[in-house]
Amino acid sequence: MTLPSLSGNEIRQAFINFFLERGHTFVPSSSLVPGGDQTLLFTNAGMVQFKDIFLGTDKPPYVRATNSQKCMRVAGKHNDLEDVGRDDTHHTFFEMLGNWSFGDYYKKEAIAWAWELLTDVWNLPKENLWATCFEDERGEIERDDEAADYWRQQSGFDPTHVLFFGRKENFWEMAETGPCGPNSEIHLDIGPEHCNRQDDPEHICGVNQGCSRYLELWNLVFIQYNRQDAHTLVTLPAKHVDTGMGLDRIVSVLQGVDSNYMTDLLSPLLDTIQRLTGNIQEEKNLNITPYRVIADHARAITFLIADGVVPGNTGRNYVSRMIIRRAARFGTKIGLQEPFLAKVAETVIRIYGDFYPELRRNRAAILENITREEKRFQRTVEAGVNKLEDQLHQLAGSSTKILPGEQAFDLYATYGLPLEITRDIAKEQGLGVDEDAFRRALERHRIASGAGDVFGQMGDDEVDIYSQLRSELQAQGKLAQDGVTYDPYGNLQIESPVLSLVKDERPINEAHPGDQVEVLLPKTPFYVEAGGQVSDTGKIYSPPLDGEPGWEIRIEDMRKPAAGVIIHTGTVISGHPRVGDQAIACVDAQRRRDIMRNHTATHLLHYQLRQVLGDHALQAGSLVAPDRLRFDFTHSEAVTPDQLTHIESGVNQNILDNDRLQIVLKPLQQAIAEGAMALFGEKYAETVRTITMGDPEPFSYELCGGTHVSETGDIGLFLITNESSVAAGIRRIEAVTGRAAYRLVQHRFQALNQAASILDTSPEQVPDLMRDLLAEMSEARKQITALRHDLATLEFDRSLEQVKTVAGVPVLTSILPGADAETLRQMSDRFRQRYPSGVAVLASLLDGRPILTATVTEDLVERGLHAGELVKAVARPLGGGGGGRPTLGQAGGKDAGKLNQALASVTDWVESKLKA
Ligand SMILES: [Zn+2]
Ligand SMILES: [Zn+2]
Repeated sequence: MTLPSLSGNEIRQAFINFFLERGHTFVPSSSLVPGGDQTLLFTNAGMVQFKDIFLGTDKPPYVRATNSQKCMRVAGKHNDLEDVGRDDTHHTFFEMLGNWSFGDYYKKEAIAWAWELLTDVWNLPKENLWATCFEDERGEIERDDEAADYWRQQSGFDPTHVLFFGRKENFWEMAETGPCGPNSEIHLDIGPEHCNRQDDPEHICGVNQGCSRYLELWNLVFIQYNRQDAHTLVTLPAKHVDTGMGLDRIVSVLQGVDSNYMTDLLSPLLDTIQRLTGNIQEEKNLNITPYRVIADHARAITFLIADGVVPGNTGRNYVSRMIIRRAARFGTKIGLQEPFLAKVAETVIRIYGDFYPELRRNRAAILENITREEKRFQRTVEAGVNKLEDQLHQLAGSSTKILPGEQAFDLYATYGLPLEITRDIAKEQGLGVDEDAFRRALERHRIASGAGDVFGQMGDDEVDIYSQLRSELQAQGKLAQDGVTYDPYGNLQIESPVLSLVKDERPINEAHPGDQVEVLLPKTPFYVEAGGQVSDTGKIYSPPLDGEPGWEIRIEDMRKPAAGVIIHTGTVISGHPRVGDQAIACVDAQRRRDIMRNHTATHLLHYQLRQVLGDHALQAGSLVAPDRLRFDFTHSEAVTPDQLTHIESGVNQNILDNDRLQIVLKPLQQAIAEGAMALFGEKYAETVRTITMGDPEPFSYELCGGTHVSETGDIGLFLITNESSVAAGIRRIEAVTGRAAYRLVQHRFQALNQAASILDTSPEQVPDLMRDLLAEMSEARKQITALRHDLATLEFDRSLEQVKTVAGVPVLTSILPGADAETLRQMSDRFRQRYPSGVAVLASLLDGRPILTATVTEDLVERGLHAGELVKAVARPLGGGGGGRPTLGQAGGKDAGKLNQALASVTDWVESKLKA
């Protein structure tokens, strides 16, 4: 047999071309961050982006598709992290090739094409291929003889090579309920010498027997049932095909190498690492695990950051951080001390950048984030690992051999040592970590710090009500086949009949004033929140006609509860709206125009950020509201006032240039190829809306479904109101435009004019005058302090006339109004100069609260007097406390009314101490 000599990139393309030639539409990989699916941390299979199609809530414009999907399996149920690097086949990131039929072709074609591609196009030896089909070990579900028969019909297929397996191997389910069906896998026998269990007498070498001789190449899933409960399967009217072929595996087979790491997709990464270490081949072979881990993790992190997942503390961002830190630690095992991972990432970008242009586009952000995170980790890793080594050392002597989860969490919280690294190190010493306790500690910390959980809830129940409504209306011919016509881009007012009214999740025929209702129309001009732009508000009303009084519903919100269903949510203001009434739906136009200004300004801001800060400043979040806009972007430090001024004036220059916006629908592929900015985590359709500004030289080019002004000049004015930090590496700018910007200017002017009028000067003179006034004030304050001091001295000198003699010792108690603590201390010194032997307690009232100092001369200290104790005793009735040295004590109190009484107690105290 001769295998074709193809590169990994060519093999991927050959797969796609094969299915393009058979009527399939190429669907680009969706982001690693699943769009709209809050239950999933990362896209982990090719079917994630088609889930809604299988569930029946989304209808694509094609019935056959082919794709190469970016996947991550690093957390949760499908978690291969610990196996990565220890063998040739497990990865955190991988690509899944697939062909899909949505109610179109079925087993016959799927099997014939799989056979044709593997044997005719790629020349794999027919005699070495095996197929598995489903046979229920519980006898409840029909055996898949249909698939088995099709296999046996393929030319050159050995009919004895069909094997049947049970539910675990050959039955696929999306979840506990929902779409499911039998699957059929194709395995390749690479020869008995490749069996890694030849020494195991229990081992019977064969397909699915857990050895390395039989490689699973391709899984064909036939979705023909809907599972309603544990025992009820209903046959689907439309059957689907979902296939998955791991790219790394097929490339290793076609390139005739034993390991995924030896393909031309991954081996260049190992070469880069070897160049960085300066290792010779033998050293590399001895340390192959760190090499593999670093190569795998470098590939994963490059794709993750390109999809906007930067290192952070929770959820996906935690995974991003963990992967970099784990790779960095494996780097230290092979002597890499400096940040190195970005160098490996560059190789990833070189190999994968043609097919995944987002890698090239986000190159700067990828490299910068990796290196910054590595450096951050280097600062603490040694301390963290040392601490862990100590703990493990103690543990080794104990009986449990399990590191408590709280300690593992503490290592993460204090030294940034991710659980996965702690686990690696513990495992290397034959010890374990209590991971459940770690997660509980992390969760407590997350709740305490107010951070959210990435796992949200899906509102599955309500989908049914609205899908049902949609089907009924479609059956009655009242609603188009693709559902409600959505056109927020044209007229803001339309006339339309009311199709349905829903109250408390039940359809009703008539609503009454005060009711909270949901209104379904066949079409709508109301925008539904998406891409950061908030939903429109407005009203749906029926004017009085022919003696009928008319009605009005105030529309407060919009939503899409199911595919093809858009509902207006609001309150009945007057009258009795009925299903079937003719109505006028009217968007609040002024509010909408405010929103449009903010949306277009957001695009300009995005552009100027990249101009002023650099290409790494990528959108990380956005809010487009009527009164303001908020834009989050990746940038590691605060934007300086100077940069902010540049950004703001740049946007205003764009506004003054009055560029006309070009809004064009294009195939997604074309837009991406032309360099349009796409958003992280967004799921884009085949045809996308593109917004371009700048003519003849376009400067802003974004994929965007939002509503925009016609010319940038419509924005009027753009003002930045705030710049702040949202998370590590992410900054936020808030700004206003149009009317809100004008209002802001007006308020500022009014404030300035008022200030000028109070100061009796012109607005231009205000800053200078204020500066002068502040200087004068500070001078005046100094004088006041000096005067107070003089006054206190005068007062003090006068009070010396009241010095009493107690048991032969001069004792002074005095109140010096307005003296601060410093003055009281100075007066205490003055007392000691006058009386080489004596006791003084001086008090004053500061902001209505008493403060006190007590002083005792050295000779009296020797006779048992203590200034600290004295002042404490005096302050007690004042509700305060104090203390100090034997010669000088200080106290404060609350109750000024008892001050005289408290001072009167001094003589008794001195007398009792001296007599004792
Ligand atoms: Zn074997
Ligand atoms: Zn936009």
